[in-house]
Amino acid sequence: MDFSIEYFWILLDFVKIIFELFLLSAFIYLILLFLKGTRGAPILAGFTIIGIFITLIATVLKLEVVGWLIGQMWAFAALLILIIFQPEIRRAFAELGVRNTMLLKSKKKEKENIQILIDAIFFLAERKIGALLAVEREIGMRFLADSGIYVRAEMSKELLTTFFYPNTPLHDGGVIIRKGVIHSAGCFFPLTQDMTMAKSLGTRHRASVGVTEETDCVCIVVSEETGTVSLAYRGRLARGMNRERLERHLHNLLVKGKSSGLAGNVEKIKQAISEGDEGESI
Ligand code: ATP
Ligand code: MG
Repeated sequence: MDFSIEYFWILLDFVKIIFELFLLSAFIYLILLFLKGTRGAPILAGFTIIGIFITLIATVLKLEVVGWLIGQMWAFAALLILIIFQPEIRRAFAELGVRNTMLLKSKKKEKENIQILIDAIFFLAERKIGALLAVEREIGMRFLADSGIYVRAEMSKELLTTFFYPNTPLHDGGVIIRKGVIHSAGCFFPLTQDMTMAKSLGTRHRASVGVTEETDCVCIVVSEETGTVSLAYRGRLARGMNRERLERHLHNLLVKGKSSGLAGNVEKIKQAISEGDEGESI
């Protein structure tokens, strides 16, 4: 009898360990999933490797002061993570609270608006007129719209292209499209701090990446220098878009993928943007 009770407790301990391991693995897996593809991931990996390396050396060589110092430094790691991943954490929290807003009202209207957008973009690209255009998805962009001028106008190719004509008061900055209408123009978007971006890319492209790090919007850029059309999404930039690719991506992001910012297809779309890229992706 005693033996079987003892056996039961050993088994219970074993199950507990397995359960603990499972919880820990799931937790680490979720963290890695969150970090995957973020701009801070390589920095964090670098710090972790250096930290482990120095800890090992300090332990093997019994370097007490260095060991103590490293021990203290790990405590700062949490703060470091908060600072490095500030935009991602902010976006994750923002996504938790998003309403399931409809970008465009009906399927037909959605498709029409995407066509208007594409027509306007390639009209500008052919003439090498620089443009920056963000389409809001689920995270509100009002805090960015405040930096520009409110327009709240029906979508039209004519109006969209007019905003970007050089030497007009609103041509500097980005246009925000919100719930199927041109919401504001001349908006200032945050610049990305990503150092791995090609040096040839200036502030317009950096702003397109920056705005997609802060929100889940889709941002389209036309280069004034080359007429190249690029698409930014979740901190990544796909350059060299043609009409078909832009249409496919916009359809995936704005029609199919609008229901949830945390949906699994977000990863797939992100990957598709990078993989299908003829130019450079970050
Ligand atoms: P291009 O290929 O068109 O030259 P670029 O990436 O090299 O693009 P710049 O030449 O630096 O960018 O483009 C400057 C223009 O980009 C500005 O005149 C302004 O209209 C726009 N721009 C720059 N920064 C921002 C920003 N933070 N928010 C919105 N628009 C911006
Ligand atoms: Mg430039």
